[in-house]
Amino acid sequence: MKIFDTSLLDLPFYTDQHRQLARDLEAWVDRHQDLPRAHAHLSVTERGRLYTALLGEHGWLAYALDTSAATERPDLRSLCLIREAFAYLDDLLDFAFAIQGLAASPIAWYGNERQKADVLPAMRSGSQIGTLALSEPACASNLAAIGLTAQGSPDNRTITGLKTWVSNGNIADHHAVLVRTGEGPGALGLSFVHMPSHTHGLHIDEDIELIAPRAFARLRFEASPFGDQAIIGQPGMGFRYAMEILNFYRVTVGAAALGFCRRATQASVAWARTREIAGSRLIQSQMAMDKLANMSVYLDTSALLVARSAWEFDTGVKEVAAHASMAKLFATEGASRLADDAVQLFGAAGLVTDSVPERIFRQVRSLRIYEGTSEIQKIIIAGALARFGA
Ligand SMILES: Cc1cc2nc3c(=O)[nH]c(=O)nc-3n(C[C@H](O)[C@H](O)[C@H](O)COP(=O)(O)OP(=O)(O)OC[C@H]3O[C@@H](n4cnc5c(N)ncnc54)[C@H](O)[C@@H]3O)c2cc1C
Repeated sequence: MKIFDTSLLDLPFYTDQHRQLARDLEAWVDRHQDLPRAHAHLSVTERGRLYTALLGEHGWLAYALDTSAATERPDLRSLCLIREAFAYLDDLLDFAFAIQGLAASPIAWYGNERQKADVLPAMRSGSQIGTLALSEPACASNLAAIGLTAQGSPDNRTITGLKTWVSNGNIADHHAVLVRTGEGPGALGLSFVHMPSHTHGLHIDEDIELIAPRAFARLRFEASPFGDQAIIGQPGMGFRYAMEILNFYRVTVGAAALGFCRRATQASVAWARTREIAGSRLIQSQMAMDKLANMSVYLDTSALLVARSAWEFDTGVKEVAAHASMAKLFATEGASRLADDAVQLFGAAGLVTDSVPERIFRQVRSLRIYEGTSEIQKIIIAGALARFGA
């Protein structure tokens, strides 16, 4: 199974450990090629639970949950390689991996020792599932405007309201919820609160179905209580923590786009080599060459942007936000174009339900929206240009 381009892995952005991880991932994906087909009869919520457990059992979740002593974060280049390989294999496997990592980050990065001991072992083993509940119906791009507000005295507070677009919200055992706790105005008054899903008044308000189905829900809180010990990290630092987590994971979204697109490109080349059009092969048509050449340039460019950004996080470069946004923006916008070209090369065969082009066409669309829309990435990139120049 060939997923990674060794000419890119050989660049100094990567170490021998990453190169070995890439080989291990290719071998693992090869052994699990039947995963999507074998579980196609299960619901997305059943697959979400099963895949999370599988990832824990095979040790992959440790990459997302364990932080290095040097950066106090997981190794981002490893997370990117893992998401690239899992997206290549199965959208839901990539989703299960990414959401468990995101959900664990508030406690893994900022939590106290007791919170870490209570929550992380079960999340690392995949026996429990978490969420990162930030978005609300009235604000998701603009988290500084969060409305879910704690009421009551500091050691005995409640929240009433909604969180929406919560990945794994309907199968989770606990949630990291961004709540207005009022230490300061706007972005300065938010905190992360750890809430088990059995908390009083916490309900699944709605299961949400998406273009590429997954466990996804709106959560309702009705006077749901929490005490001081449930606050993760420093009170009032929730917005900053959320931005740090989103900046970091944003790069992995670019890596996932790359995995989907590598699969679509391989399928397109194989198709164009064999498909006969007017007495010759499709691959000999200059119009097909145009699409395939664009695909190849996209793969290399996205891989380089992802590698640079992940390397910057891992080596402690100070200003990382704009390069993370570039990697996400370029890889996810390009993925939609590439997936569309793959459908076009296949013709009607590319629209057949569950064919590679049809699947990837649907699966890459959400990448341009979650963890900061493309428009938000452009605001970050242009903001850096305004501050630091070109
Ligand atoms: C698959 C998927 C998984 C998700 N998982 C989670 C999750 O686990 N937890 C969670 O909390 N949320 C999650 N989300 C929600 C996601 O973070 C939001 O959808 C995203 O932040 C955009 O918010 P919105 O959908 O409300 O769009 P809006 O913020 O309403 O944006 C609508 C449009 O306005 C544009 N826009 C917004 N602000 C500006 C601006 N300042 N300038 C110019 N244009 C702007 C946007 O780019 C977009 O085009 C998920 C979403 C998806 C699709």
